[in-house]
Amino acid sequence: MVSEDARAELLALTRSAAALLRWEEEISGCGVAPAPARSRVVDEGAALGDVAPASGDSPRSLSVWAQEAADCRGCRLHEGRTRSVFARGSEQAEIVFIGEGPGYHEDREGLPFVGQAGALLDKMVVAMGYERDAVYICNVVKCRPPENRAPHEDEAAACSRFLDAQVAQVAPRAIVALGRSAAERLGCIEPEGRGWRGKWSSYRGVPVMATYHPAYLLRTPAAKRQVWDDLQAVLARLGRALPGGR
Ligand code: SF4
Repeated sequence: MVSEDARAELLALTRSAAALLRWEEEISGCGVAPAPARSRVVDEGAALGDVAPASGDSPRSLSVWAQEAADCRGCRLHEGRTRSVFARGSEQAEIVFIGEGPGYHEDREGLPFVGQAGALLDKMVVAMGYERDAVYICNVVKCRPPENRAPHEDEAAACSRFLDAQVAQVAPRAIVALGRSAAERLGCIEPEGRGWRGKWSSYRGVPVMATYHPAYLLRTPAAKRQVWDDLQAVLARLGRALPGGR
């Protein structure tokens, strides 16, 4: 005779395993399949003149911050940029994904997370049960560091007013830090090198989960399981059902 508790646990395990399989299927072949159609999109920095501030925005809306970042010379990174890269996604998002800084393609397009890593991130978002543009995506620094190096501390500090404005205005229920550099900036590094991935921290009062950067996942597919564990923890914290388990 199977108890109700055991039955519930078995059901949860089955759903979790099924969700993992779907996740692995969905994020395989990343960078090949076209992204799903966009919903309400705010691609700040890419085409500032096209950005329509949401009704009720304060006078200093994120599109104004994006314009300020486009003109900013607050640190040395402005010297090598083609365009500043502010954000994409929904300003009403309950999750904000934050990477370390723009790469080559982002610098040219003025959008964060384009190219293969961006396609993979979009698949991760969809696998979590969100539409591609229902989340908000940005970086710690808005201008591309040379040679794709991690931003220096003084550069991240100079750029923090933009990040802080984004977190304050979007007011997400959770942040996902993508990669060690972003995790470090958002306070997810444990003292004495005790790891960073899979750890909860807090940034300006918002819970932060640190996980691997999609670019790392492209190079290390075996890490998919760990990333899925981290994203499941975020869904659980938000009280959202596993995709497909609803
Ligand atoms: S990285 Fe940030 S602080 Fe530095 S120039 Fe660009 S927008 Fe300004």
